[in-house]
Amino acid sequence: MSDKKTTGQIGVTTENIFPIIKKFLYSDHEIFLRELVSNAVDATQKLKTFASVGEFKGEAGDLAVRVILDEKKKTLTISDRGIGMSADEIDKYINQIAFSSANDFLDKYKKDANSIIGHFGLGFYSAFMVSKKVEIITKSWRDDTMAMKWECDGSPEYSMSEAKKDSHGTDIILYLDDESKDFAEKHKIESLLKKYCRFLPVAIVFGKKTEWKDGKSIETDEDNIINETNPLWTRKPADLTDEDYKKFYKELYPFAEDPLFWIHLNVDYPFNLTGILYFPKVKKGIDLQKNKIQLYCNQVYVTDSVEGIVPEFLTLLHGVIDSPDIPLNVSRSYLQSDSNVKKIATYITKKVADRLDEIFKNDRTQFEEKWESLKIFIEYGIVTDEKFYERASKFVLLKDIENKCFTLDEYKTLIQSEQTDKDGNLVYLYTTNRDEQYDYITAAKEKGYSVLVMDGQLDVHFVNKLEQQLEKTRFARVDGDIIENLIKKADIKKVELTDDERKDLSEFFKAAITPVEKTDFVVGFEHIGEQRNPVTITQNEFMRRMKEMSELQGGMMGFYGDMPISYNVTVNLDSSLIKKAIADRENTKELVNQMIDLALLSNGLLKGEALSRFVQRSIEVLK
Ligand code: ADP
Repeated sequence: MSDKKTTGQIGVTTENIFPIIKKFLYSDHEIFLRELVSNAVDATQKLKTFASVGEFKGEAGDLAVRVILDEKKKTLTISDRGIGMSADEIDKYINQIAFSSANDFLDKYKKDANSIIGHFGLGFYSAFMVSKKVEIITKSWRDDTMAMKWECDGSPEYSMSEAKKDSHGTDIILYLDDESKDFAEKHKIESLLKKYCRFLPVAIVFGKKTEWKDGKSIETDEDNIINETNPLWTRKPADLTDEDYKKFYKELYPFAEDPLFWIHLNVDYPFNLTGILYFPKVKKGIDLQKNKIQLYCNQVYVTDSVEGIVPEFLTLLHGVIDSPDIPLNVSRSYLQSDSNVKKIATYITKKVADRLDEIFKNDRTQFEEKWESLKIFIEYGIVTDEKFYERASKFVLLKDIENKCFTLDEYKTLIQSEQTDKDGNLVYLYTTNRDEQYDYITAAKEKGYSVLVMDGQLDVHFVNKLEQQLEKTRFARVDGDIIENLIKKADIKKVELTDDERKDLSEFFKAAITPVEKTDFVVGFEHIGEQRNPVTITQNEFMRRMKEMSELQGGMMGFYGDMPISYNVTVNLDSSLIKKAIADRENTKELVNQMIDLALLSNGLLKGEALSRFVQRSIEVLK
């Protein structure tokens, strides 16, 4: 070994790049560990490849990557037995930090610093985010090279000298700086390794396993291996059982209930992607996004915010996606315009739809049983993704008040003859609350109509979407009007009142309604048969939807939010009580008050003083 020591300047066009790196990476210091360990894993994998093709003939030995923390000295060493680097290679890969590509990218992406990082080998340099000094001691797998030691204190100056090292591989030694003392803690490092390195393909050893003895934890002789080198998604679906999938799900989300279904993804053209997506069981009111999809790149954990990669509605799913083709560390806007990412999103959407279709076709009973959980994904997809709608329209289900499920086609066939109005529009009746809208449901049932239940979080949007897609189709909430008006038939009896009579009667009935703040009542007249209630109060479908949308969205729709709520008060001219009231207006004021209040009451609109007056009046009647 010679004592020759070289010093030099790291291939610095870095003068402008270093600050960018530091700034960009600033918020996420912890990723240095991911970068260094995955470099070590890459070097190890390469050695394995050389060995398998017979180029490397030596003794590979134990190829585990070891992470060694010296809490006292505040050093962290990442040690591998991979291919190592010769002096020339250090020069090329480390000193010239991506010299060749750096200039190109700086030119190309001057304005978008984030996009540089993704294309640009900066992994190793992330060590300087937490270190005051970094040493590399490395020996190439090729017999004819010397071991080398490289060191650098974070300035663009480094020194390099020959070193002593018996085996091939690389030790990266970090001298943690004062601001990064957190990383000199065993638990911290262990949790970072668990987060980023849990599924790396080469064993990662961090210290020794511990066990409980006499009430305290002691170290054993056994290596503490952090990771599972063959995670489920890298294995062949044919070799896996349902239990394997469920077990893996539990590993990912220890507190979650068993998933409903899963999809094993595996593509190698035109991009690479593997993974397993799970449909979780959904409970009402539970934060759906709590357990997120995890994104990996060659088994290295990258992130659990996959927005932009996975179609929005699928972010509600759980599981893992692994793709070396997703550009990492780049800005969201860049990601969304990346053509690979777009293809990935389309592919995943198709896969998910195919799988749902398959379950629907092969096991409809199971599909229906799980519908309440599946519904939110499918409706979300339908509302937000045109492609998905096309596929899902075959298996999305509508549920009626008897809990029977129908596909769109089946339902159409079911109601076509009865629920087509005089203009040829098909009317889908629905309720959002079986108890509150009981009266209206009953009225619809008496006509022989079917009523759907639409009480899900996304049903408002879902209904809108179906109305846009399905021709000559209208959705009407059962309490949107009297049933005769919801589905208008040709044979409805005309009301024969002159304008003056109408005005006069309207005023008479309106006078009996106690005014409610921000609420309008519009009185109308119909012949709907003797058996029906004398007065029915309904809320116009269009106005109600506008209000609901404005509550959901705010902003532009705020206008509707501020408008008064308008109710229709339908007076049934066939009712004997109404006939009586009209015939003798002077002496039936109490009766009219009572009839109106009953209608308000069944809508939950009778409150405060008006309610109290109604109760008093009712007691008087009983006397
Ligand atoms: P990237 O890994 O994205 O290429 P890095 O800055 O992390 O960028 O590393 C640059 C290069 O240095 C690697 O491509 C590799 O050739 C070399 N290198 C880094 N770490 C090791 C290691 N542990 N063993 C062998 N070579 C390494």
